Amino acid sequence: MMKIRVAAIALLGLLAGVAGSVADDYPSRPITMIVPFAAGGPTDVVARIMAEGMRASLGQTVIIENITGAAGSIAVGRATRAAPDGYTLSIGHWSTHVVNGAIYNLPYDLLTDLAPVSLLVSNPQLIVANPKVPATDLKSLVEWIKANPDKVSAGTAGAGSASHIGGIYFQNFSHTSFLFVPYRGTGPAMQDLIGGQIQIMLDQSSNSLPQVRQKQIKAFAVTSKTRLSVAPDIPTVDEAGLPGFYISVWHGLWVPKDTPKPIVERLTTAVRAALADPATQKRLLDLGQEIPPLDQQNPAALAAFQKAEIEKWWPLIKAANIKLD
Ligand code: ASP
Repeated sequence: MMKIRVAAIALLGLLAGVAGSVADDYPSRPITMIVPFAAGGPTDVVARIMAEGMRASLGQTVIIENITGAAGSIAVGRATRAAPDGYTLSIGHWSTHVVNGAIYNLPYDLLTDLAPVSLLVSNPQLIVANPKVPATDLKSLVEWIKANPDKVSAGTAGAGSASHIGGIYFQNFSHTSFLFVPYRGTGPAMQDLIGGQIQIMLDQSSNSLPQVRQKQIKAFAVTSKTRLSVAPDIPTVDEAGLPGFYISVWHGLWVPKDTPKPIVERLTTAVRAALADPATQKRLLDLGQEIPPLDQQNPAALAAFQKAEIEKWWPLIKAANIKLD
């Protein structure tokens, strides 16, 4: 008995040593960050800014891999099956790592098959339209949609994506009805919004602001209590006539479960370094992204927040009976 215990302790020591040396060498080659939506969209943009910001701290490149489909659930599934060695990261947001669990029959568990690294930025959505839409403010947009029942199309990043859920809540709040057109991300949807194939979108400010600034699309309201400091002309939903219609799309970073703790810590440190870097901060803030306070930039804060969001949103989403595309 004693011998077995001694052997077990020795083995544990050996394993700890192996984990320690793996973590000491980590990272010794480029890391892949799986983006669950199309290139050029809001999650992709956050991912690329973070990847660049984390590079100096990690001493390695972080490569972006876009895996699209089923509102990000295919990509997240791929990340859950990757080796837990710190070389595959799963970036995602409110919809991929919370909402999808209520909509899809996922072959993985969002809370237990991934290990959290840190909360990342969050931003509200903008209610935006093609410039030819005749409405001049949010109230007249709602009237125009009501006057054209089921003729107006909204672009989404797939069933369950933030843009889709935002659209459904918008319908409920404004008592309107319109069609949803799914894309592989709101990056490609934005191209069609500019082109006029779709008329409206509820999209993260980070994806829409550059086009709003270039007057390629128009923005009617921001889904937050306060105006964006980088876009002070856009009224809040409270000011524009849809009081209380708040949506905040927060991003986070995860790794496959069983990734050694020292590696997770190394990644958290790199996230913190990126979020503290003035150049990275500026790029994020310019897109209307908010940076979480330092005490939220860690695995425990993301784990607690993700769990709380699941408890809050799953009953609401299930009650909304959202259909898959
Ligand atoms: N985050 C998605 C994207 O990158 C958009 C969404 O969730 O609506 O396209």
